[in-house]
Amino acid sequence: MTAIIIDGAAAAQALYAGLAARVQALKARGVTPGLATVLVGDDPASRVYVRNKVRACESLGMHSEHRALPATVTTAELLAEIAALNARADIHGMIVQLPLPPQVEPAALLQAIAPDKDVDGFHWRNLGALAAGTPQLLPCTPAGVMHLLDREGVAIEGQRAVVIGRSQQVGKPTALLLISRGATVTVCHSKTTDLAAITHEADILVAAAGRPRLVTAAMVKPGATVIDVGINRVDGKLVGDVDFASVREVAGRITPVPGGVGPMTVAMLIANTVTAAERHAGAAST
Ligand code: NAD
Repeated sequence: MTAIIIDGAAAAQALYAGLAARVQALKARGVTPGLATVLVGDDPASRVYVRNKVRACESLGMHSEHRALPATVTTAELLAEIAALNARADIHGMIVQLPLPPQVEPAALLQAIAPDKDVDGFHWRNLGALAAGTPQLLPCTPAGVMHLLDREGVAIEGQRAVVIGRSQQVGKPTALLLISRGATVTVCHSKTTDLAAITHEADILVAAAGRPRLVTAAMVKPGATVIDVGINRVDGKLVGDVDFASVREVAGRITPVPGGVGPMTVAMLIANTVTAAERHAGAAST
């Protein structure tokens, strides 16, 4: 079997088409959705991620505002920046690009973002709402994973799903979303023993470990849907957590890296920003 390749770029484009109409509707009401991006230091990968987010915003006619701060910035300076953006009526969403330099405590910053502007979905109120089954603003990558599964018509309810990775930003929220949709979910992580035996049970396998080519063909159930969240740079090339060449011969569907989950993450960020602006406009008109 050769897997169907899930085209994340096409899925993102389709999503943008719907978002463009929502942006126009907001603009007709005098509201231009605004996203602020905060980048600390000069990590090349982070610069690319932020640039993609700014471009996506601008291509939809949204307002985007970028803050580039030196790697020496203090937590207090960043908190002041966030407070200023929280107070702005024309900024509906903001993100602080991770990772941050060692002197900055990420939790302090992420919890300082107003939850209704937290378009990365990392604030504990948003993560708690997700855990409680009443999601508000969803973390972008997990939301993108679910969007791809739905767009492909992959059955979720009653299926066995395995998530590799338990991070607060990716692994855990993805598992929560899959549970909420009726999958039977196992979460694997760095302390898991016999990973292959567990992943081989999965109808849906999500790899979010940040380990290049961790998932090999022998670990995949024939016909499974394999979603590769990983982004790793090996010899100057981007590779996922899945050994794409071998796994595509076993899986039923598979996302490539690049061009799979990555574009969806950006699209979901823009979707969250539009949603935040709509809620703001709704609140403003009542
Ligand atoms: P993280 O480092 O915070 O978490 C990694 C998780 O993987 C941990 O829970 C760890 O226990 C687990 N893990 C590590 N090695 C393992 C192993 N050998 N076996 C099983 N589990 C193992 O990383 P993260 O922020 O969750 O990101 C994971 C990957 O996804 C990274 O490659 C990151 O670059 C990528 N990522 C991609 C997107 C995207 O848009 N495609 C977005 C966010 C993160």
